[in-house]
Amino acid sequence: MQASMQEFPLRVSEIIDHAALLHPDRPVFGRSIEGPILETNWRDIHTDAKKFAAALISLGLKKGDVVGVMAWNTPRHLSVWYGIPGAGGINHTLNPRLFADQLVYIINHAQDRFLMVDFDLLPIIENIIDQLPLVEKIIVMTDREHMPDSNIPDLLCYEELITPQPEGFDWVQGDETEACGICYTSGTTGDPKGVVYTHRSNVLHAMANCAADSASSNDRIMPVVPLFHANGWSIAYSAPMVGASMVMPGRDMTPKGLFEMLELGVTLTAAVPTIWMQLLQYLEENNLQLPNLEKVIIGGASCPRSVVETFQNKYDVQVLHAWGMTEMSPLGTICSFKPEIMEMDAKNRLDIQETVGHAPFSVSLKISDDAGTELPWDGKTQGRLWTKGAAVVKRYLKQDNDAVDANGWFDTGDMASITPQGYVRITDRSKDVIKSGGEWISSIALENCAVGHPLVAEAAAIGVPHPKWDERPILVIIAAGDTLPDKSEIMALMAQSFAKWQLPDDIIFMDEIPHTATGKISKLLLRKKLADQGYELPL
Ligand code: ADP
Repeated sequence: MQASMQEFPLRVSEIIDHAALLHPDRPVFGRSIEGPILETNWRDIHTDAKKFAAALISLGLKKGDVVGVMAWNTPRHLSVWYGIPGAGGINHTLNPRLFADQLVYIINHAQDRFLMVDFDLLPIIENIIDQLPLVEKIIVMTDREHMPDSNIPDLLCYEELITPQPEGFDWVQGDETEACGICYTSGTTGDPKGVVYTHRSNVLHAMANCAADSASSNDRIMPVVPLFHANGWSIAYSAPMVGASMVMPGRDMTPKGLFEMLELGVTLTAAVPTIWMQLLQYLEENNLQLPNLEKVIIGGASCPRSVVETFQNKYDVQVLHAWGMTEMSPLGTICSFKPEIMEMDAKNRLDIQETVGHAPFSVSLKISDDAGTELPWDGKTQGRLWTKGAAVVKRYLKQDNDAVDANGWFDTGDMASITPQGYVRITDRSKDVIKSGGEWISSIALENCAVGHPLVAEAAAIGVPHPKWDERPILVIIAAGDTLPDKSEIMALMAQSFAKWQLPDDIIFMDEIPHTATGKISKLLLRKKLADQGYELPL
C-alpha cells in the first residue's frame, strides 16, 4: 500500500522558524560577554541566525563544512547555533577548558574550516593557531568596539558580518540525516572521540526531551550547562521548540552571578551537581531564597541525596535527576514526577530520586553481565548498561568500526540496576567499580552519602588492592571550608546507610581533587595522585 503522508524533513531550522512564528516576543535574556544583561526574543534571534547563515555563505561556506564554536551561553550563541546548520554547515562545539593539545586534536580531526570565538576566549585560539592548518577564518563573536588586539591577522567581527546581510535568507535544505553538529567526548583515556549528530537525531531528541515532562511555554529556562557540553543537553533545541522564555548566563558561573540571573524569573534550570552544591552554600551563607525557581535538572554526575533534600525541603524546588552522555545526545533517563511518585511519602520519593529516573520514548535500555546475558529489572541486580535509540551514536567520527554490537546496542560504560518500573540506578562507571570479596560496592553511593556531611564538599571512592578481599574502598574527601570534618563522624554517618564491609577502610583528606574538562572528578588522575602518595594502585 502506498502511504498517504508528506515527507517532512526533520531539520533543526524548523525549530527556530517555529519559535519565531508562534512565540516571537517571548523574552530571551542574557549576560553578554561585553558585560551588561541584555533582552532579546525568538524573533530577533531568528533574524540574526538567518543573517549569520547568509554571512557564512558569503564567506564561502559550503554544505558539510565544519564550523568550530568556542563560546559561552549567550543569546548571540543561540543565533550562531541555528545559523551554522541553517547555512548547511556543521556546528562543532569546543570546550575552552580542554587542554591545548586536545583542542588542537579535535579541531584538526573534525576539519574545522571556520572558528567562532567569544572575545575573552581568543587567547586560547591564539595559543594554538599555528597548529591549525585547516582553519581559514576566525570570527570573533562581538561588535567592532570590543574586537581585541590580536596576533592573528584578518580576524572577522561577528556584528559587522551580520549587519549588512539582507533579511529573509532561505535556509539551506537537505536530507534530515545530514550532519548538523559534532561534540567530542572528553576522553579520559586515549584521544577524544567525535559524535556527529544529524538534523533528525537532534529534532527527535528535542521532542523526546519535551515529552519527558520537563518544560513548557510557561517556563523561563536557564541552561547553566554550557552549550559546548554534551550537545548543550539539547536545551537550545527544546526551549524554542516549546516556546519557552530563556535566560543565558554568559561566562559568570559563580554562585553570585548565577543567583543574579535566577532572579530574572527563571523557573527551570539545568547543570551538573557541583554548580548546585556551590549555589546552595551561597544561598545559605547569604540567607537567600529562590521564589521563582520551580524545577532544577541535575545530571552529568550523580546528584547526592542531600542536594535533592535541600532543594525540595528548604527552597521548594523540585529536582529532576537525569542521566545521559554525549553519545546519547545526551538524554538517557530523567526522574520526572509521575502520579505514582507524587503520591509517595517524602522518604520513598527521595529513594526514587536517587535513581536517575526512566528512559523517555525513543531510548531503549538493558543491563547485562560480562558474558552478555541480559539481567532482570528487579531493582537489585547490577550489570553493564546498554542503550539503543533514535539519537544514540552508531559509529564515532572517522572510525572504521561501529561503536555498537551486532544487535545495535551501545555499551554506555556505566553499571546500573533497574527497578521493575524501569527506574535506573547508576552505581558506577564500569572501570571504577569496587569489588570486595566478590561483592560490588557502589562508589557513587559511598560518595553521595559522604557529601551529606555539612563539612564535606566533594568525595571520591576508589578501590585499592587488598590481599584478602581483592579490593577495598578508600574515600578521598575535600572539605567544604577550613575546618576538616572528623573522620569518625563521616564513618558514623555512612554506617547509617551501609553494612560494615561496605564502609571505606580509610578516609584521606586532600586540598584538591583532579577534575575533567566537564567538571567531573577524574578517577584516573586521582589514582595517579594517590599512587604518587605511596598507595599501590593499578593505573
Ligand atoms: P564527559 O565524560 O565528556 O563529561 P558525558 O557528559 O558524555 O561526557 O559523560 C557521560 C557520563 O557521565 C555517563 O556515562 C555517566 O558515567 C556520567 N553521568 C551522567 N549523568 C549521571 C548521573 N545522573 N549519575 C551518575 N553518573 C552520571
